[in-house]
Amino acid sequence: MIIHLPKDISLSRAEAYAREVEALCIEKNDCYVLITNHTIKQIPVVLSNIAIAHWNFTTDMQLSSRQYTPNTQRIPIADTYIGGDGKNQLMIAGPCAVESREQIEQSCQMLQQQGIRVLRAGCYKPRTSPYTFRGLGEDGLKLLSEMREKYGLLIATEIRDATHADKVIEHTDIVQIGAKSMYDHGLLTAAGQSGKPVILKRGFGSTLQELVNCADFIMSCGNDQVILCERGIRTFETNTRFTLDLCGVAWLKEHCNRPIIIDPSHAMGYEYGIGDLARACTAMGVDGLLIETHPTPATAKSDAPQQLDHKQFTELYESLKPIAQAVGKTLV
Ligand code: PEP
Ligand code: MN
Repeated sequence: MIIHLPKDISLSRAEAYAREVEALCIEKNDCYVLITNHTIKQIPVVLSNIAIAHWNFTTDMQLSSRQYTPNTQRIPIADTYIGGDGKNQLMIAGPCAVESREQIEQSCQMLQQQGIRVLRAGCYKPRTSPYTFRGLGEDGLKLLSEMREKYGLLIATEIRDATHADKVIEHTDIVQIGAKSMYDHGLLTAAGQSGKPVILKRGFGSTLQELVNCADFIMSCGNDQVILCERGIRTFETNTRFTLDLCGVAWLKEHCNRPIIIDPSHAMGYEYGIGDLARACTAMGVDGLLIETHPTPATAKSDAPQQLDHKQFTELYESLKPIAQAVGKTLV
């Protein structure tokens, strides 16, 4: 249950009530928000005279539920936004990983020419094999910060684990929590306390309910700038890397108040198909796309088969514009 308390009581009073009813407490501009688990259906007696509004839920998708706030959350991104009235489709693009100054500069130049605002690139790569490139770490973060200054791009990069959470949060504009870390509650809390927009990627073995519960984890720390990312789930099919769950996206659009972006690159795993998937997702009216693109994919140190070269990417980007327009969206 979510319960709103008026702002004319003190924060310490609101927190004392929260402790008494075993709720979490978030301070908003116009009220305090107390959240108990969803099995509580009646306003606790101690709050019955003071609560100004309350909501019941059938699951612990509460803060991220459209039953609580019916509209998609509007999240400012640079000079624009994602979500809100749903008129924008945000493009987030760049290589899988930061590999060198030259490589990341070439990526930034291409994005700048295209008018794309958000560069994605990992510095701490979660890998399935310990013998593969794991990212440049802090040196990569410093390069990304330089790129922000030089090219005026926003940076989206991943926190892989708690050992570098503070450093990533310091250097990035948008915090990414990867599919393999979706359940890491330390990272969810760090992202929740960061005050920055968060891209939460769906674990490839996770249900939609588990994904939205993780969104609630971040939001229950007081950060409502959570963007969900569908990036493919594991099914019996092995010819593609994962299976892009567009039914899941439709479910999220119906039930969840978060902006939703789709990453066809990690879902497909191969450069072919990504353009068609991106166009299909655009036609579906999603809030954003995340696409991997590399100046020379064949030399990429991670995810080489799925990265588009810059020519492929710019052709794809052009092809999305009329589709976005047809569904009432602008690519930003
Ligand atoms: C990524 O976006 O770089 C990444 C590692 O993706 P995922 O977490 O979806 O596997
Ligand atoms: Mn990748």
